[in-house]
Amino acid sequence: MERKEFRELTSVEDARELVDSIRVQPEITVLPIEEAAGHIIAEDMLSGLDVPAFNRSVKDGYAVRAKDTYQASEPEPIELKVTGAIPAGCEDSFFVGDGEAIEISTGAPIPDGADAVVMVESTKQTSDSLLIYQPVHINENIMRAGTDIMKGERILRKNTRIGSREIGVLASIGMDKVPVKELVVGIISTGSELIRPGEKLGISKIYDANSYAIGAAIEECGGTPRIYGIVRDDEKLMEEALDIAIAECDIVLTSGSTSAGAGDIMYMIIEEKGETLTHGIAIKPGKPVVIGMVGNVPTIGLPGNPTSALSIFNEFVAPIIYNSLGVKPSFRTKVTAVMGTGIRSGGREELFPVGVVRGKVYPADKTSGAITTLSDADGIIEIRAHTEYIEPGAVVEVTMFGNVRSPDLMLVGGQCPGVDLLEEMTGLTFRTLNMGSSAGFTAISSGTADIACVNMVDSDGNYNSSVLKRMNLDNVVLVKGYRREQGLIFSPDNHIYGLEDVINLQLINRNRGSGTRALLDREIGLLAEGKGLSKTEMIKSLKGYNSGSKTHRSVCDAVKSGKVDVGFGIRAAAEEAGLEFIPLAEDEFDFVIRKDLLQIDEIQNFLAVLRSEEFSKRLPAGISTYEMTGSIISSF
Ligand code: AMP
Ligand code: MG
Repeated sequence: MERKEFRELTSVEDARELVDSIRVQPEITVLPIEEAAGHIIAEDMLSGLDVPAFNRSVKDGYAVRAKDTYQASEPEPIELKVTGAIPAGCEDSFFVGDGEAIEISTGAPIPDGADAVVMVESTKQTSDSLLIYQPVHINENIMRAGTDIMKGERILRKNTRIGSREIGVLASIGMDKVPVKELVVGIISTGSELIRPGEKLGISKIYDANSYAIGAAIEECGGTPRIYGIVRDDEKLMEEALDIAIAECDIVLTSGSTSAGAGDIMYMIIEEKGETLTHGIAIKPGKPVVIGMVGNVPTIGLPGNPTSALSIFNEFVAPIIYNSLGVKPSFRTKVTAVMGTGIRSGGREELFPVGVVRGKVYPADKTSGAITTLSDADGIIEIRAHTEYIEPGAVVEVTMFGNVRSPDLMLVGGQCPGVDLLEEMTGLTFRTLNMGSSAGFTAISSGTADIACVNMVDSDGNYNSSVLKRMNLDNVVLVKGYRREQGLIFSPDNHIYGLEDVINLQLINRNRGSGTRALLDREIGLLAEGKGLSKTEMIKSLKGYNSGSKTHRSVCDAVKSGKVDVGFGIRAAAEEAGLEFIPLAEDEFDFVIRKDLLQIDEIQNFLAVLRSEEFSKRLPAGISTYEMTGSIISSF
């Protein structure tokens, strides 16, 4: 096969039109009611019976003839004779005559002769007679047969998506089998680098995210996913997998191998077996997308990058599924929101992944295309061609992914188990981006973060306020947090008594911009000074100084696995990992909060928990509150 170059890119509008013209005929299958949720009902559903099927009581009380109660009042109750009792589900027949009453439970059938129910609260029963203190009118507390659903009534319209409410209605008319439309959508993940989740990850391998993400997206549209698993980048294997899927499915999706790279042959296979309708849509992310027809099976090659694959699925595959099933898209809610920061675009049409926090929109695009982009994103905005910049404050429409709950607060900065505890105790949903203190300061100054989590020390041992002063930030406050023991983390096999012992051992450092790394730098400086050495010389003798691990936990993982001898981090992490710990310093972990947010409920809640005694008690070992905890500093 020849290698192909991209031809003209199809415009988004043309691609949408193309997709709208594709329809597949779904099959109709009958599913047990337990499995029907999420599917699309294939026929109008008519009720074969009245619900309820008999007149029944809606209260616990007494079945009576209404006219016998008309004279009843609080001071002058009337007296009736009780002749029996009818529990729910009772099949015996009863009769209520003049001057009589029968005790009746909620849901039990109304006996012949009775035309109302007096609720038990309006009565008093003695040995065999009943006092009634309030009159009832005819039909009071009775649900007539067919009130809920009349026999012959249409209870569900064809093409309705079956949810909990629909299942309830179907069950209440006695349906145990439900005719649904079945549209089988196959998904093949291509890539020699892919490993099935649950299996061991080899060198240069990544887990297959697309089979499952796309599978779930198919289900959200009402389709039936069929996951074929991973196929290596081998033309023959891909061809075989595609043949099987095309024979078994109504629509076939592949992921990966769509760009015109050397090993990327998906589209050539589609071309050879059927017809390519488009290869390459003028949109980002996910330009490399193939839409083709093999026989009468739409075959679509999604890009490998998980964010792109999902965006392209939502944009160009979901409509085919919806149109074929005859349903309206329902799960993609659009919300109007305001740009929290500006977004720069390449001047071409883009589907830009964004996070939405309290109505503010933030870019979630790390362009690298890592899966974290996807987990940090709540939806996408559509950027039109020729738009190069969307300003902060601009109103945009966000198409949400599935039914995501967007977070309450955006926290950027250092990682700490204390923050996890704050999230748990406030009951709020945090979006925490663990990018280190420096990134926290940047994010708070640009308005991306609501709270920056910081532990940045300066050469005088002052925490955080000197950075704020240097950055000249006046629209924020510094909320003092808590103190954390920081020190050396190592396995019990090593004998380490201080920083001096680390020389010649293999060290794992934290990422640049992390406050913990800055603290280690300070400690190294102090040690060097004591020895009459320069700090640079000292650093040179530390093996692994240039490494950069992103969290305390990952430092512990590296120590635990034996890859390195020693790390630097908080006691809480060392203890959780069962490692040895020697304290070297205590840091101050603080929160920088935007002034204009101080009064909102979420921040008030955050501050209240931070200042609470319970929070202080529940902090893990090595983290403690002190007299400054929760105090607000507003000038630096
Ligand atoms: P491709 O379209 O095959 O060039 O893949 C683009 C990028 O997405 C590469 O970095 C792949 O490793 C990655 N990728 C491809 N398929 C998957 C998948 N199923 N799950 C996660 N990542 C993938
Ligand atoms: Mg690939």
